[in-house]
Amino acid sequence: MKNLLEAKNLRKYFPIERGFWRKTKAMLKAVDGVSFSIGFKEALGLVGESGCGKTTIGRLILKLLEPTSGAVFLENEDIFKKTTNLNLAEEIQIIFQDPFSSLNPRLTIEEIVGESLIFHKRVRTRQEKRKAVGELLQKVGLNSSFIGRYPHQFSGGERQRIGIARALALRPRLIIADEPVSSLDVSIQAQIFNLMKDLQEEYNLAFLFIAHNLEIVRLFCKRVAVMYLGKIVEIASSDSLFQEPLHPYTQALISATPVADPTVKKKRIVLKGEVSHSIESFSGCPFHPRCFKAIPLCSKVIPSFEEKRDGHWVSCHLVNGK
Ligand code: SF4
Repeated sequence: MKNLLEAKNLRKYFPIERGFWRKTKAMLKAVDGVSFSIGFKEALGLVGESGCGKTTIGRLILKLLEPTSGAVFLENEDIFKKTTNLNLAEEIQIIFQDPFSSLNPRLTIEEIVGESLIFHKRVRTRQEKRKAVGELLQKVGLNSSFIGRYPHQFSGGERQRIGIARALALRPRLIIADEPVSSLDVSIQAQIFNLMKDLQEEYNLAFLFIAHNLEIVRLFCKRVAVMYLGKIVEIASSDSLFQEPLHPYTQALISATPVADPTVKKKRIVLKGEVSHSIESFSGCPFHPRCFKAIPLCSKVIPSFEEKRDGHWVSCHLVNGK
């Protein structure tokens, strides 16, 4: 199957500067050799603990950050090459996590949602803009008469709907949803989740769905990638990953997910120790200081990333049978 987006060996290192002369003392490896693809109309989930590099990947795809190395292809065009004719904002948009800080409080909803329509010459007159913004508001379940209001006049869920309308305005093909429901009340989460599902169907959207709530990812995404310290350690279809997680880190994450059935008994795997920093250089598997299955080999040799079953890739010595 042809892919809409393909990331190849993507790296983003941030220098850690110290002292009066701000000399680079070390490198923080936020994203370290990550490869994945997203098909047309596909939702790929990206999960992992805070600070593992999920949001940095989203920012790299949006070209808000320059990569240290690697490439991102949008339908075979490398988005980082200067020769590309792509207008990235028309292809890829973002829904931010925080519906409060992501909307400019000084602008009306008409200006927030309609700004890109004017900039990209999708509308020419004020009337056309008002009409287009009103239609977008209706699409996300808001009254079109709200276009003259300001963000502070809306609740958190309504603001997130406005953020979704803004992301939809240019009819992109891919949306980076960066924890889009995690700062909302549980009852509102379900509404926003259902809205995004409906819009995905209607507009044939592909999603990179960044989250730490595994249940939401399971319901929304066909495939899921699990990140640890800047690397993807497991990637598989949602069914395969949740039914039989292969990497010990994924097993621990899934064991911590609550089940809404009191008869189901689950043994929770509690990881010891803190998440290490991706500044430290490891010999061996980056997860070995916390891994409950580690063997002596794990501290010496980096496990390779191999396909264990059909489309189920994992990076672990035990699974890959060494
Ligand atoms: Fe654990 Fe070793 Fe597998 Fe790493 S390679 S996840 S330390 S068992």
